[in-house]
Amino acid sequence: MENYQDIEALSSQYGINAEYASDGFYPRFRENVKGLRLSVLCDRNTVRYAAPFAEKLRGHGQEAELFMLEEYEPVADEKTCAVAAKGTAQADYVLAVGAGTLNDIAKYTTFLSGKKCGVLATAASMDGFTSGVTPLIKKGFKITENAHTVSDILIDLDILCAAPKIMTGAGAGDILAKFCCLTDWKMSSLLNGETYDERAASLMRVALGQCVENMPSVQKCGKEGVDALMRALLISGYAMVIAGNSRPASGAEHHMSHFLEMDFLRRGKPIPLHGVKVGLGTLVSLRMYERLREIPDLFEGKECVVKLAEQLPSPDWAASVLASLGCPVRFSEIGVSEDTVRDMLFNCYKIRDRFTVMTLYHNYGLMDKAADELIGLYY
Ligand SMILES: [Zn+2]
Repeated sequence: MENYQDIEALSSQYGINAEYASDGFYPRFRENVKGLRLSVLCDRNTVRYAAPFAEKLRGHGQEAELFMLEEYEPVADEKTCAVAAKGTAQADYVLAVGAGTLNDIAKYTTFLSGKKCGVLATAASMDGFTSGVTPLIKKGFKITENAHTVSDILIDLDILCAAPKIMTGAGAGDILAKFCCLTDWKMSSLLNGETYDERAASLMRVALGQCVENMPSVQKCGKEGVDALMRALLISGYAMVIAGNSRPASGAEHHMSHFLEMDFLRRGKPIPLHGVKVGLGTLVSLRMYERLREIPDLFEGKECVVKLAEQLPSPDWAASVLASLGCPVRFSEIGVSEDTVRDMLFNCYKIRDRFTVMTLYHNYGLMDKAADELIGLYY
């Protein structure tokens, strides 16, 4: 069993310097960027952390220029990536000060230009910090582009705890989702013989358990809780590296989120936080697993799937956690139509060729009877 609690040691195994704020002001990071021209990339929201950070770096003799994107909430699309690439063109290393979007922009643009990048995390809001791919919007479609992993992740719990509550809630949604995707994966291994990587799964499961143990602190955005949440979010990336795919981090709940994302893009509406949509999908997945034991329908392997489902938390508990962090627990709250949600329930399994609880429902015609109930509970 890996010592997942020492996230700094675990990260170094994957070539990433995860470093907590200390009196020494990130000595390993400063050593890594010594002699390089550094660009500190931020937006209008995160400039309040980025500007003093750049200043402090310069105080330590490090060349560091600030580059701010004009938006409060930039979108990772072609236009913003081009602006960021131009603004940081002179640098050898780009440090993003932000969470999902800025990290994605930095990873992608520096990958293309052959530079290194890192991130000073401003919210524990999603699990993409350690991933080597980047979700981007190109020509109005959400796609996943190859990028590289960050070289440094700088963690200041004071900053993470001060993030807007809903961002921590989104991170909690992305972690609660692991209950479902790990079950989707295990179920597929039992029913279809799909390869199941026990090491990746157990690494994720243990981090998830630690996070759940600390949930009362997460719900108060307390340091212990947010630290456990952040560690689980980082470990999610490593679990994917071990598995060689995104199985340990993404299942039906993510397919629901992607399905809704396309709807927002089609309508030209701002997309809600990844973890907020994934959190909603998690409630649906948990209920779909839960109701299997109540339905009379028989299908091949039902007994073992019900056994797996019994190890899951109740959807009501997950909803109470999300609600306490200011996250929506009904799809109507994020501005999608009931028709879209119904369409999602019947069709999101097509998004990826990956067996999940959604595929199970589709294969055995179980959604016809479940859809109204799920809509009643979560729309
Ligand atoms: Zn996710």
